[in-house]
Amino acid sequence: MSVKNFPLDRARLEELERRYPTPFYLYDEKAIRENARRMVRAFSPLFPGFKEHFAVKALPNPFILKILRQEGLGADCSSLPELLLADMAGIRGEEIMLTANETPAVEYRTARDLGAIINLDDFTHIEFLETALGRLPELVSCRYNPGPLKEGNAIIGKPEEAKYGFTREQLIQGYRLLKAKGVRRFGLHTMVASNELSLDYHLETGRLLFELALEIKDKAGVSLEFVNLGGGLGIPYRPEEEAVSWESLAGGLKTLYDRIIVPAGLGALSIHTEYGRPITGPYGWLVTRAIHRKSIYREYIGLNSCMADLMRPALYGAYHHITVPGKEGAPLTETYDVVGSLCENNDKFAVRRQLPTVDIGDYLVIHDAGAHGRAMGFNYNGKLRFGELLLRPDGEIFPIRRSETADDYFATLNLPALENFDGRGTV
Ligand SMILES: *Cc1c(COP(=O)(O)O)cnc(C)c1O
Repeated sequence: MSVKNFPLDRARLEELERRYPTPFYLYDEKAIRENARRMVRAFSPLFPGFKEHFAVKALPNPFILKILRQEGLGADCSSLPELLLADMAGIRGEEIMLTANETPAVEYRTARDLGAIINLDDFTHIEFLETALGRLPELVSCRYNPGPLKEGNAIIGKPEEAKYGFTREQLIQGYRLLKAKGVRRFGLHTMVASNELSLDYHLETGRLLFELALEIKDKAGVSLEFVNLGGGLGIPYRPEEEAVSWESLAGGLKTLYDRIIVPAGLGALSIHTEYGRPITGPYGWLVTRAIHRKSIYREYIGLNSCMADLMRPALYGAYHHITVPGKEGAPLTETYDVVGSLCENNDKFAVRRQLPTVDIGDYLVIHDAGAHGRAMGFNYNGKLRFGELLLRPDGEIFPIRRSETADDYFATLNLPALENFDGRGTV
């Protein structure tokens, strides 16, 4: 069981509404800090050199990155703006990992200039990187795709069908080539699941990488400096699900490490991770209000928000728990589709959800939106994305991103040329 809390009551929301109208995202700084601390405390004593590179794509806000940096986390980036966000937050050098794919040369150069660890997605990228940078960096990491050796899951698909990474043979060849070209420090990475709640699944990934580290030592003569287990650790979106504890994950990996890595004399190998979802996911909420009720073939609650604010339910059919502040204890007597305003019928935060009676004006809080929530937002249908508020440890509310306005939406248009544009000839 996982408990679905929300840190503000209805009275506080009403008071807040005067300064910050709904919808907005709210993040709980204290809970994020405590969780990050718990993670570091579970891993660091067992694995010297342990580094969690927080996946920036999960919550790309430099205030959050700064908080995480203070707790000892780095950043995992996969685009130029994500690299710049990490830099903005004061995350430096090898605390940044560039795990991108189909990476343009300019991103590699920016990563190099920041001193970030570059993680290659393909054998051919060795030469691409060398050309892009003039010379290869001292440290290079490679991403492994285990293909049929590993089951995938529903969100990420099967590794065999995934576009990412090197095959096993290419990986051995790759390390040989990197070594021949003068690279001296090496990392290994994989990411094979998404939102996976099975501890055994993640331990199995660890075992796979540890055994591969031995094979790489044997066949390519390369001693890896780190293995990066990627992201993909799930969170309990449904109240009946259970989180994987940091302690059991770190402890389980340590057992495998002691059995596989230590006897092979590779005990200098450190562990890196790039979790996003389990770091911030449970500590962010999308706060909305019911503005319509509609009764046709089903009962609908219409929110002042839409899937442009939180795409996961529409994209994956994902479950997000919903509560109604002020009605926490009320019996779940109604069955609603809770919907947004997009002109797409899959714009539903919940389908046939049991809820208490919802009245117009009620707040509806959508839980576990602290990762891959606001970040996945978009502007289709002229929907403006909403701002982000931070609940500070002292209870203050602090805006870390304002809501978009129509002017933001128009900002990239060539408006000065519009007036004289008659649709014919040149302007
Ligand atoms: C998305 C992603 C992550 C983070 O995944 P979470 O599910 O948020 O933990 C980490 N690494 C890579 C390469 C990714 O694509």
